[in-house]
Formats: sequence, structure tokens, C-alpha cells
Amino acid sequence: MNAAMDPREAVLKRHRKGLVQVYTGNGKGKTTAAFGQALRAIGQGCRVLVIQFMKGRKYGEFLAAEKYLPNLAIRLSGLDSFVMRDNPAPLDIELARQGLDLARQAVLSGDYDMVILDEINVAADFKLIPLADVLALIRDKPAGLDLILTGRYAPPEIIALADTVTEMREIRHHYNAGVKDRAGIEY
Ligand code: ATP
Ligand code: MG
Repeated sequence: MNAAMDPREAVLKRHRKGLVQVYTGNGKGKTTAAFGQALRAIGQGCRVLVIQFMKGRKYGEFLAAEKYLPNLAIRLSGLDSFVMRDNPAPLDIELARQGLDLARQAVLSGDYDMVILDEINVAADFKLIPLADVLALIRDKPAGLDLILTGRYAPPEIIALADTVTEMREIRHHYNAGVKDRAGIEY
């Protein structure tokens, strides 16, 4: 087969410029939108890494990737417990910083075509990680790499660097009608 037929190469050729995308806002759908983008990229032969800040549990996407998607790597970089905005546990901070170090290595490694930093906006807003380091990561990314940042409270400095910013706005959420977290919907 001609090397030019390799689907990943074809995608990379089309990808003259890697994009920075931000999914923020208080409505449901930010993390799942990012994973939808990952699925699309994987289907086109791209190598994708997701780092999940402030999460310590294997959500459905993680379980699906383990089972069916070898080109989708997911790393958890948090605890499976609520982070207190004004009083985060030292381990919350430590794990978030490890996640940021991993993100920087991954972004600069050339091993991935797309890197998704799930909930990193929240980690920056809660000051678990320095905002300046996130901005540096965005600025230093290789030109062809697609970078996606999710989470509520995206700082304006991150928004300013993004090519695409989508705000999920809550119109209604089933949680407010008393519907509990559900496997396959929330996690
Ligand atoms: P999802 O992971 O379903 O795409 P999300 O990433 O937009 O949601 P987060 O802000 O990361 O949402 O919150 C994670 C959890 O909170 C999810 O279980 C989600 O269903 C729930 N959630 C999201 N938006 C709301 C809301 N407006 N009210 C209550 N719960 C919400
Ligand atoms: Mg989310």
C-alpha cells in the first residue's frame, strides 16, 4: 500500500494547523463532547490521549476505551472525591500537578495527534495548578497538535488563546428534578 494512503498521514496532511478547543459553561455535555471529538479523531487514524484532572474513577469512556479503543489512552489524575474549592487536599494539588507534568510531556512528545485535558479549566480555576503553566502549555504546543480543554469556569486567559470556544449553557438538568447520577449518563 502506498504510504500516502495511510489514514493518519492523510489526516495530518489536512491538519495544517492543530486547533485549541475549549468546552466550558454550566450545562451538561463538556466532557462527553470532548470524547466525541476523540472518537472522531480515532476513526480517522489519530492517536489520542485524554488526561482527566480531578477524576479518580473509570467512567464509561475509560471502560469503553480499555475494551475497544487501543488508540485512545486515558490517564486519571485525581481522586474519586469532591475537591473543595477553597480548601483542596494536598493530594488533590499533587495529583493535578502530576497531570499537568504528564500533559506537558505528552504534548511535546510528538506521540499524539490530539490531547484532551478534561476538567483542566476547573483545576486552574481552583488553583490546583498554576494558570500560567496551562497558558504556557497552550502556547508551546506543536503546531499540528489538536488540544482540547474542558471544564466549567474556563479562565478568560485560556479562552483568549483558543480557536474554538463552546459554552454549554444549562437550560434544564434532570439532577434538579431529583434524578440521581446514572451509569452510562453521568459516569
Ligand atoms: P458530561 O460529563 O455529562 O459531559 P460535563 O462534563 O458537562 O458533563 P461537569 O461540569 O464536568 O459536566 O460535571 C460532571 C457531572 O455533573 C456529570 O455527571 C454531569 O451529568 C453533571 N452535570 C453537568 N451539568 C450539570 C448541571 N447543570 N446540573 C447538575 N449536574 C450537572
Ligand atoms: Mg466534565
